[in-house]
Amino acid sequence: MIAKARHIELPAVLLSHQELEEAPLPLFVFLAGTNGRCASYTLDVKEGDHVKIGDKLGMRKGPFFEQPIISTVSGTYLGIEKHLHHTGKTCDFLKIQNDFQDELSSLCHERSEEEIASLTKDDVLNIMKDMALVGLGGSSFPSYVKLQGEHDIHTIVINGVECEPSLASDHRLMLEHPHEIIEGVKYLMKAVGAKEGKICAKWIYKDLESTFSSALAGEEGSGVSYCQVYNFYPQGWEVACIKSATGIEVESGHLPAEYGVLEYNVATIYSLYLAIRYGTPLLERYVQIHGDGVVNPKFFKVRIGTPIQDLVALCGGYTDSGKKKRLIFGGPMMGNTVNSDDVICSPTVTSLLVLDEAPYKADPCVRCGSCVYSCPTHLMPVLIASAVKAGDKAKVKSLHPERCVECGLCAYACTSHINVTEFVRRAKRIAKL
Ligand code: SF4
Ligand code: SF4
Repeated sequence: MIAKARHIELPAVLLSHQELEEAPLPLFVFLAGTNGRCASYTLDVKEGDHVKIGDKLGMRKGPFFEQPIISTVSGTYLGIEKHLHHTGKTCDFLKIQNDFQDELSSLCHERSEEEIASLTKDDVLNIMKDMALVGLGGSSFPSYVKLQGEHDIHTIVINGVECEPSLASDHRLMLEHPHEIIEGVKYLMKAVGAKEGKICAKWIYKDLESTFSSALAGEEGSGVSYCQVYNFYPQGWEVACIKSATGIEVESGHLPAEYGVLEYNVATIYSLYLAIRYGTPLLERYVQIHGDGVVNPKFFKVRIGTPIQDLVALCGGYTDSGKKKRLIFGGPMMGNTVNSDDVICSPTVTSLLVLDEAPYKADPCVRCGSCVYSCPTHLMPVLIASAVKAGDKAKVKSLHPERCVECGLCAYACTSHINVTEFVRRAKRIAKL
């Protein structure tokens, strides 16, 4: 059952209507060797090698998968440098000196309509693998894994909900590339035999409603439709989005595919379109640099691999408020706070929120139950926090913290300003030991 959580109604986001700037191509581009999911890698290049867009430079090694490292510029490979992943982890990055020629690899192969029409499910799965497609809603989970199951799929749900307050990257992508997204959905529907493809966004975005109404003219009979969902947080959570789009409730511990549904983020579908149609990797993302801690907040189109410091500089740097800055990658609810801006724009980076740090003090828990009432996965965060504090592992496990989707609502709702979510995160780690 989906919880009757106390959802947060959200204001319309205006940032996506802010003028979009094309960030200048950087002189040096950095591509993750290791990242949040892959602890090691191998290299196919040596220092001084010339590389092109789409060239495979090596292979990341995940716990049960491998993922090619693909160049997003042409230029010269210079070696490995340490920088931060947006999760705050220090990782190895391949450094490429850009030659600004944007030469395309011979591996990038544009497909004809006939070739696309003949692609099987296995072909699409292999394209996803070869192009290192991942969940761009933030999970960075390898996209092909969802295609490995044998379940009959009747519906593809395309998640463009982006429900966290202040985020606007997917909204912008949907405004600018509706036809490519519709084509991507159709490719995927054909590959898995789905009859329906539902492109979901919040009802509050009237501009998207008219954009897709026009873009879908002539697509009657294709099975692709535009679906307006609620404007609350966490409507972008996979389970909530599927429920709104199809009426299907995915029970905890089960996969959407067991119900005949696959769910993909809208940017992932766009990257699938590029991979199938042009044989190219995703090269750019829309990235917001915003918050009261930057001089001139901006919205950029950014080449993947660009240092975030370059973007902050284009915003005029940080405000001189005398306060420490808090850097959050992602939204204010689920984003990662990091200690430094030495972060590289990977495919899943869409927002840096810079806030002036406010003095913060938690009060004792008053057992008000707000955190329980707010939890969309029916957990009891207050009890989990108590069990963590008491070091009671058996109790922690019995409260099923693994069901937490880290939405942050329990901390947001806490009347005593306790970071309850952080306790639940710790509980998840304890429960795994
Ligand atoms: S962060 Fe986890 S425990 Fe807290 S409300 Fe969200 S799902 Fe529930
Ligand atoms: S919301 Fe905060 S104060 Fe209320 S029960 Fe939960 S932890 Fe305690």
